[in-house]
Amino acid sequence: METPMPDFALAFDIGGSKMASAIIDAEGKALRALQSQPVPFDPQPSEPGGRAASAERLLDLMAPHVAQARSLPGAFHGIGISLCGNVDTQSGEAVLVPNLHWRYVPFGQMVRDRFGLPIAPGTDVRMAALGEAVWGVAKNVRHMAWGTIGTGYGGYMILDGKLYGGAHGFAGNFGHMTLDEVNGYPCGCGRRGCFETFVAGPAIARAGQAAADQGRSPLLVELAAGQPVTTRLVFQAESAGDPAAVEILDKVVRLISINLGGLVNMLDLEMIVLGGGVVDGKPELVQRIHRRIRDFLMTAEAQRDLQVVRESLPNSPLWGAAADTLIRAGVIKNFAVGMEE
Ligand SMILES: [Zn+2]
Repeated sequence: METPMPDFALAFDIGGSKMASAIIDAEGKALRALQSQPVPFDPQPSEPGGRAASAERLLDLMAPHVAQARSLPGAFHGIGISLCGNVDTQSGEAVLVPNLHWRYVPFGQMVRDRFGLPIAPGTDVRMAALGEAVWGVAKNVRHMAWGTIGTGYGGYMILDGKLYGGAHGFAGNFGHMTLDEVNGYPCGCGRRGCFETFVAGPAIARAGQAAADQGRSPLLVELAAGQPVTTRLVFQAESAGDPAAVEILDKVVRLISINLGGLVNMLDLEMIVLGGGVVDGKPELVQRIHRRIRDFLMTAEAQRDLQVVRESLPNSPLWGAAADTLIRAGVIKNFAVGMEE
């Protein structure tokens, strides 16, 4: 029996330090193993000491992957591009990508000009939500939020069965709800005291450093061995029962539960899917949030029905970028979630 020729897309997930890529078919199967390469940065002449990701060198890195995809049997439908910032989902213009130091970079057009293929650009959190909705744990879920806890904290939502971008496509920044603008820390968004500054990876490391400096955690002092305390060391200390580290992560679980619980009370969500570096480093945080969030839910229905689960795909933004490409090409049609207007 002949195997039918696959429909597939080439997907890239460009983060602040690494670019992941994969070739994925319409069933969500990787036709080639996921690969990861460092993002190339160039010095910025306009900004002494500043560095920005080099769009030209990124295109050079993408070229062999495109050539490989072109050489595969089947139908190659285009390039999905997930970026760690605000991206125009039509033009692919990178409006603001702080980790790459990009502002209004016409990256989508550059990819089109270089390779002459259709593209599907979008912010990583939008892609991740879409990937989980098409092939992952959120399949057929009509009211859900994707959340990433890593260097930052934020996400994207599917409301009433549709990706929800809001007025400008920037919805889902629940990490930038303000918790304490008086006593809080400065945030990457330019304001002060956002939830992100209390719960994301850098906040966990900072709290661990403070515990070490103030003599509250001899174990963290020992583990750090004269180096700065990292998020990973706080996880390690907590697993060993260090009281200061236990307190730090209890607070993180409580604050995320307050933040996401508020979101559920406002939107009546059925599911929250969590991923990101902090979750990868401490997966049981997901179950802890799943339990703790119930203290902050208003209705018995939400307490009964809400699921808080870990992402189910190997790299949700990457899979989402492939799904987006195949949806735009008309290959994936009958899936439960609609695209935003
Ligand atoms: Zn903020």
